[in-house]
Amino acid sequence: MHADLIFTRGIVHTLDPRRPRAEAVAVAGDRILDTGSSTEMLAYRGPQTRVVELGGRALLPGFYDAHQHQLYMGLGYRQVNARVPSIREILNQVRARAERQPPGSWIEGAGYDDNKLAERRHLTRHDLDAVAPDHPTFITRTCGHVMALNSAALAAAGIGRETPDPPGGSIDRDLDSGEPTGVVRESAMEWVRRVVPLPSLDQLKLAILEAADVNLRLGITSVWEPSVEPDHVRAYRDLEADGRLPLRVTMAHKKVLRSGEVVPLPQPFSGPWLKLVAVKLFQDGGIGPRTAALTAPYEGEPDNRGLLRWSQAELDAIVHEIHHAGLRVSIHAIGDAAIASALDAIEAALAAQPRADHRHRLEHCGLPLPALQPRLVELGVIPVLQPPFLYFDGGTYVRNLGAKRSRWLYPARTLLHLGLTVAGSSDAPVVRNHSPLLGIRTAMTRVSFDGVSVAPEERVTLDEALQLYTRGAAVAGGEETEKGTITAGKLADLVVLGADPAALPIEELADIPVEMVVVGGEIRITELPGSSGG
Ligand SMILES: [Zn+2]
Repeated sequence: MHADLIFTRGIVHTLDPRRPRAEAVAVAGDRILDTGSSTEMLAYRGPQTRVVELGGRALLPGFYDAHQHQLYMGLGYRQVNARVPSIREILNQVRARAERQPPGSWIEGAGYDDNKLAERRHLTRHDLDAVAPDHPTFITRTCGHVMALNSAALAAAGIGRETPDPPGGSIDRDLDSGEPTGVVRESAMEWVRRVVPLPSLDQLKLAILEAADVNLRLGITSVWEPSVEPDHVRAYRDLEADGRLPLRVTMAHKKVLRSGEVVPLPQPFSGPWLKLVAVKLFQDGGIGPRTAALTAPYEGEPDNRGLLRWSQAELDAIVHEIHHAGLRVSIHAIGDAAIASALDAIEAALAAQPRADHRHRLEHCGLPLPALQPRLVELGVIPVLQPPFLYFDGGTYVRNLGAKRSRWLYPARTLLHLGLTVAGSSDAPVVRNHSPLLGIRTAMTRVSFDGVSVAPEERVTLDEALQLYTRGAAVAGGEETEKGTITAGKLADLVVLGADPAALPIEELADIPVEMVVVGGEIRITELPGSSGG
């Protein structure tokens, strides 16, 4: 049998524990044909075979970002970019839009972080009214759990002085006047989503393609889309049907749409490029905005333990419904109280109807305190962690939780050493830079961009960090027979790095260039000189 593509003279990290290193890889069609020495692989060379001389570069399984909002990331490219250093700069962008757009049309932005803005506060309606009085405007916080609205958007959403806080959400109010400040949290955002016009199918498809291109350039060949809505599924299916999906996508469907609408369970499906296998639920918020649900209060806020989205009875019922339908459950649970609640619901569903190999997932699993850890193991739940959170927000987390609890923030090493499958991911566009190499480096260093060390006990080795973004993510997706390692018979989804990460100081890992990306045996990106045909 002839190979279509042979990589020689490389440092191949297969991530396959039975054969962790190789020098060369042969690919036939969309599959890995074999791995071994350069001489062995060149035996598969035929007249049409393309040979890529790696010259000491590293070859790895393509990265799998196990929790990334690819579609929302793509939509964000066309919105106000609030990931800037100050409120003033956000407002300049909003003003520029307001001057271009017809009055009454919506202005949307995302990505601000009150902890990082020069003004160290949230945007208010007054800020936004000053630059866009005639355009309903809202800017979502980087976490996606908090929004700042102007007066026109508050009015359109029907939020006023007399509006009570909704269950699982809140409206910030001025202490003196009682008027909404413009900041709304968690389920209160649904009132806004209900009145904002939805993007068209073409806009959704364009967003997917633009974000997928960015992903490929970072070496990402698979993403888990954590919370799609029915029109997102349509956009993805269209692209798949037209053969235009450049990377592989596995989706979890929302149970509650951004508008608050509760939808029936989706019909699962599974193809080589696109899968829908799970249903996503939110059980709390985030540690940055102090909405993740904790058993003990936030530092300096004795009355704030965050918010649980569902009562235990509600969560039990809905998890049971999903489990009973044979779908996987994917629960957003960050604080220890949310994790406990999610585990209770999964335990009850499994007790009512045992299912081996259920692959239920905890998205984030940010604060699994020691008492919760044996339960994760016993129930076989898969934690899907975000090492980049520690890089961008580690300092904020430690401030919000205090040193003692912070010991257990995203404890990758502990979870791996308990024998759990652990997946790594970015949650982009929540983070500003979602390069898997930055996530890998941060899993190894656990140091934030501003030098805060977060639970250094939980540093992992390079091999463990690579696992999070390859094999672990593939197992979390239920796709380990197809993805996650360079093993004969699996899909030929591969990434070539300009240097071997094992040979560099940790500090330099995030700067290694991605030089070639192969999906299904096809070279999608190449910066490599001198690869030869024939
Ligand atoms: Zn997410």
